[in-house]
Amino acid sequence: ANKARSTKVAAGFALGLEGAKKGQVVTRFPPEPSGYLHIGHAKAAMLNQYFANMYEGKLIIRFDDTNPSKERSEFEVTILEDLALLEIKGDVVTHTSDYFDQLYELAVKLIQSGKAYTDDTEREKMQFERREGIASVHRNDNIEDNLKHFAEMKTGSDEGLRWCLRAKMSVDDPNKALRDPVIYRCNPLPHHRTGDKWKIYPTYDFACPVVDSLEGVTHALRTNEYRDRNPQYWWMTDALGLRKVNIWDFSRLNFIYTLLSKRKLHEFVNNGLVRGWNDPRFPTVRGIRRRGLTVEALRQFMLLQGPSQAIVSLEWDSIWALNKKAIDPIAPRHWAILENKKVPVTVKGGPSSPEVKTLPKHKKNPDVGEKKTIYTSTILIDQEDAVSFDDQEEITLMDWGNAFVRSKVVDASGRVMSIELDLHLEGDFKKTKKKITWLSQSTPEHPLTPVTLLDYDYLITKKKLEENDNLKDFITPVTEFREAALADANVKDLKKGDYLQFERRGYFILDGENKEDGRLEFIRIPDGKAAGLA
Ligand code: ATP
Ligand code: MG
Ligand code: MG
Repeated sequence: ANKARSTKVAAGFALGLEGAKKGQVVTRFPPEPSGYLHIGHAKAAMLNQYFANMYEGKLIIRFDDTNPSKERSEFEVTILEDLALLEIKGDVVTHTSDYFDQLYELAVKLIQSGKAYTDDTEREKMQFERREGIASVHRNDNIEDNLKHFAEMKTGSDEGLRWCLRAKMSVDDPNKALRDPVIYRCNPLPHHRTGDKWKIYPTYDFACPVVDSLEGVTHALRTNEYRDRNPQYWWMTDALGLRKVNIWDFSRLNFIYTLLSKRKLHEFVNNGLVRGWNDPRFPTVRGIRRRGLTVEALRQFMLLQGPSQAIVSLEWDSIWALNKKAIDPIAPRHWAILENKKVPVTVKGGPSSPEVKTLPKHKKNPDVGEKKTIYTSTILIDQEDAVSFDDQEEITLMDWGNAFVRSKVVDASGRVMSIELDLHLEGDFKKTKKKITWLSQSTPEHPLTPVTLLDYDYLITKKKLEENDNLKDFITPVTEFREAALADANVKDLKKGDYLQFERRGYFILDGENKEDGRLEFIRIPDGKAAGLA
């Protein structure tokens, strides 16, 4: 797994890990099985994969399953699928819950060495005391009492439920993360893997450093909002005499007009604002892949972002521009005409019965294959092109040749109803201003393919939602746009998930066939230029 990849990192960034030795690096990606992965998780996962590859080391996928209130087995399955969509496969898959026995013993050890104490101070008071630097009344309870309360917690009794276990670090350190953090809590709910064996669960602050150390992680990648918690992380392994782990931190990824919190994403799904976790409007791994974001572009983008410490909301344009570079050389070229904007054209000098020509699907890349183009004397062109033609103008029909505009029937509203062109194949296409796409009108033997072109807008109307903003006030009313079009019959060669370009319209990905109307549905892939709807 994890073969080294030749991804280029922008010059100037030396992406490396402190003290890393070839063959000895172990990284880990620790998702909580409480939802689907989003583009922020993709950054964490891809950086971990990158370093594991770079040093020919190992990548651990660890399900961080310490909160039975939020976690479910289904999410483990879907997270592994999400990782596969990112072409990430860990060398091993583990669970924090694999270490519950050891974590428990280590917690007891902390109590026994006077480095942890049980506390039944109620939540709000505890928060207040931590904020103000006031010691809990239980801070100096004796070891026997602490052990007794911890044992009571373990049974999940009413008495036990009142208590939690805190590490005895500091009462009033200026770094508030060090003010006696909670390291074990009761939770009577059954756990998706350990059932009702446990009524107590380690917090992230305790489980993460301990399991990192036990699993042989050499470099723990963390988002830098945890930087205040680094001393706390090292305190844990120090206090337990465990091997110290290096921390490499990076900034959390955010995008404008985008929500990346699991809670908010759940809200969108539950309120029917999207059709599911794989909705192309969603920043989930499934959503962005479905909308045509390639793994290659994601990887390049994440590595460019890699060492940045700035927590800013990024524009989507830059990632889509990278994506365009990835798909342009391999996307076959097809043509589509919008159904309600099509103009019938008679081509004088065109073949009286259909002629078929074999042309490359991509002019610069013969590997993309060949397509069949149908030539007849009755074709369709776009209203927008038709309107722009001057009388007697010489234009170019792409993949065919030049033609003169001979007559144009226009209705009262200025809409072109029909046009007559006169072929002028000796004409020089370099001298025309307009090179247009066209399609032969459907005939029984050469029917056009009815398709739907889909485009999407951001789900929210505000670049960056603030803490107090009510999500309901910022929901974009309409975010899906559908247009019926006719495409050349070659699009039938495409498979779901294939990229293509409808020339002069943009890049698209085939999403599949609509069950109700039988039309092929194509989703527009943003290309990093100003968002324009088809
Ligand atoms: P929640 O969204 O419920 O707060 P979480 O985002 O922390 O949870 P986890 O499943 O715990 O979700 O995340 C797994 C890993 O992904 C963590 O190491 C976390 O730092 C990283 N991660 C999560 N969100 C982002 C983000 N926006 N940018 C970069 N890394 C992220
Ligand atoms: Mg988390
Ligand atoms: Mg999150």
